[in-house]
Amino acid sequence: MRLILLGPPGAGKGTQAVRIVDTYGIPQLSTGDMLRAAVAAGTPVGLRAKAVMESGGLVSDEIVIGIINDRIEEADAKKGFILDGFPRTVAQAEALDRMLSEKGLKLDAVVELVVDQDALVGRIVNRAAEAKAAGQPVRKDDDPEVFKTRLAAYNRDTAVVSPYYAKTGMLKTVDGMKPIDEVTKALFAILDGARATA
Ligand code: AMP
Repeated sequence: MRLILLGPPGAGKGTQAVRIVDTYGIPQLSTGDMLRAAVAAGTPVGLRAKAVMESGGLVSDEIVIGIINDRIEEADAKKGFILDGFPRTVAQAEALDRMLSEKGLKLDAVVELVVDQDALVGRIVNRAAEAKAAGQPVRKDDDPEVFKTRLAAYNRDTAVVSPYYAKTGMLKTVDGMKPIDEVTKALFAILDGARATA
């Protein structure tokens, strides 16, 4: 099962991806997580990505395409994967199409979590407060002002990715404002449908 989860930052992609990992036994490939790990490890990619990530902007297509190209070659991704946070531009979506076809692979599903963007800022304020209360570090880019920049980057660059997949007939949508368990149920129904036709 090869799946793309789409939706703006704060839509719940990370939360739902964890549940898909548990139920379908495929890894979550989050470019955000991989970039944060590269920043923490101080790798050349991390050094290039750090400032742009902290400001809420987008890391270059070239860097993230390279990361994903290498990551989907790893053993645990052979039986499938969930892409979370990638593709974020049409150029990345086109690069992914090329990458998959060169490897003789295809996507099984593309699902967008549709949310009310005004409500997202409130969600992010909660996420930061919860992390703080649990004694966990608060992501710099979960600061409400930086979050608004991330949302603006989404609307400028990434909102066009859903229509890209709508055109191919692959795009399915789920109401991401519903309670977490209901979102999971709707998502799993789509994945079970995709698996049945695979
Ligand atoms: P995320 O955890 O998915 O919200 O990603 C955190 C940050 O990492 C984003 O705000 C971007 O700066 C960067 N990032 C993650 N994925 C991508 C991507 N596919 N393209 C460009 N930048 C990305």
